[in-house]
Formats: sequence, structure tokens, C-alpha cells
Amino acid sequence: SMQSMASSAAEGKLTVITGPSGVGKGSLVKQLLELHPEIWLSISATTREARQGEIEGDHYFFLNRDRFAELVQAGGCLEWAEFAGNRYGTPRQPVEQQLSLGRPVLLEIELEGARQVRRSFPEAFQIFLAPPSFEELERRIRGRATDPEEAIQRRLARAREELMAQQEFDAVVINDNLQVAVIELESLMGLSC
Ligand code: 5GP
Repeated sequence: SMQSMASSAAEGKLTVITGPSGVGKGSLVKQLLELHPEIWLSISATTREARQGEIEGDHYFFLNRDRFAELVQAGGCLEWAEFAGNRYGTPRQPVEQQLSLGRPVLLEIELEGARQVRRSFPEAFQIFLAPPSFEELERRIRGRATDPEEAIQRRLARAREELMAQQEFDAVVINDNLQVAVIELESLMGLSC
């Protein structure tokens, strides 16, 4: 059927979701994974301190800067970038393993990392998640009250830069309404709903 053809289109494919901090990538990805448990989400390594409620190996692998540097040195990152004073990277081996098993793999990363993946995996499907407006993005970033003002300022500055890169992407999804954005994402990724 058309539906099963559509769902098989995502098998063994790498999809990258990027978008400014605070745009709602996390909520969107969470919804998508609940609807499509066949998708494998990469767990990144980071030098950032764990936020309250974050679990090692679930949200991130939390590494100190030396351990992170060792991982990068050993070629263990598919991509990595510095973001708001911390380093973030995608562990290479599990991604390659899941792709070789034919599973759809999802990376939720920032812009510089997405650009690196575009070079190393040109066949990856790259999606940019955009806010309805910059003002709305600022409201969302400030709403996440756990971050100190300095971190908020860095995230806002970075968000302005990232928003200018939208045209580099295969698709742009505007996250105004989460349910609508999830449906758009499913359709773009060829997942049947
Ligand atoms: P947060 O500190 O809010 O969890 O993440 C900050 C930014 O880092 C987000 O835009 C997030 O998508 C990005 N990020 C998370 N993991 C990775 C990664 O492995 N590589 C890259 N390049 N960015 C990442």
C-alpha cells in the first residue's frame, strides 16, 4: 500500500533536526518518538552540567572537557560543536551501527553540527525548525527559567545567527502549534501516521 511504501522510505535513513535553542526541538522529537518508536534518537555527549532532572545516558552523556577531547581525538564523534560555552557531539559508533541495521536515525543538534553532517553524510535529510517569530522565541527561551541571564543572552545571540541559515535546509518547519509541526515532520520524513 501507499502507507507501507511511505513508512519504508525512512528505514536506514539519517535525519537531522536543527533549530535555535528554545524553538521546541526537544518536545517535537519526544512526540515523534512516542508515535514512531522505530526511530532511533542519538544521545549526544556534552560538557554542559546536567540540568535538574536530566539523566546520564538518557538525555546526554555528561563528560568533562578532557574526556570530551579524548572522544573527539579518537575520531569518536560524527560531528561536534561549541554552543554557549559548552561542547556537544554525536557519538559516531552507535549511529553507524543503527543505520547499518536499517533503522531510521534522528539527530537533534545545532547548526554547526548540522553543517558538518551535511559534508560527511550528504544523503542525510536536514530539517530546520523555526519559531513563528523572534519575539516568540525569546519568550520561550526566557520561560526556561533554569538558565542564568548570561546563558540566556548567549542563546539569544546564537539564535539570531541560526535563524539566518534556514535556506540551507531541505525543509523548514515552523513550530507554532506542536501537533501541526509533528504532522508536518511525519510527512517530510515519510512516516505513516
Ligand atoms: P541544550 O544545552 O539546550 O541541551 O542544547 C544546546 C544546543 O546543543 C541545542 O541546540 C541542541 O540541539 C544542541 N546539541 C545537542 N546535542 C548536540 C550534538 O551532539 N551536536 C551538536 N552539534 N549540537 C548538539
